[in-house]
Amino acid sequence: MPGLKHIHQYRRAVGRLTKNNADSKMVNYYKCILPGCTHYIRDFLILGKESICNKCGNKFSLPLTLRMLKNIPHCKRCTKKYIRRADLEKALDETIDEAMDIEV
Ligand SMILES: [Zn+2]
Ligand SMILES: [Zn+2]
Repeated sequence: MPGLKHIHQYRRAVGRLTKNNADSKMVNYYKCILPGCTHYIRDFLILGKESICNKCGNKFSLPLTLRMLKNIPHCKRCTKKYIRRADLEKALDETIDEAMDIEV
């Protein structure tokens, strides 16, 4: 098993608990999407843990509550951009700035 230590990049693997799947125990699981990683975990166990942002690839801390935990979790910076969609021009400027930061 490629057991190299890394920070897992989580995505929801199994849906939220609903009437239809209530009998199944396979609900509310997240998995790591990084190649070769078989990490698979109940959602509440990853709250507040370090993870990799699914949008920008940077390290960030997952939310502390299930309510805030998205299917495809991403960092606060990316959340912010998403919320300010109306302010598109400014967001674009920031994206360019960030891209330049990463290239250095
Ligand atoms: Zn992993
Ligand atoms: Zn991000």
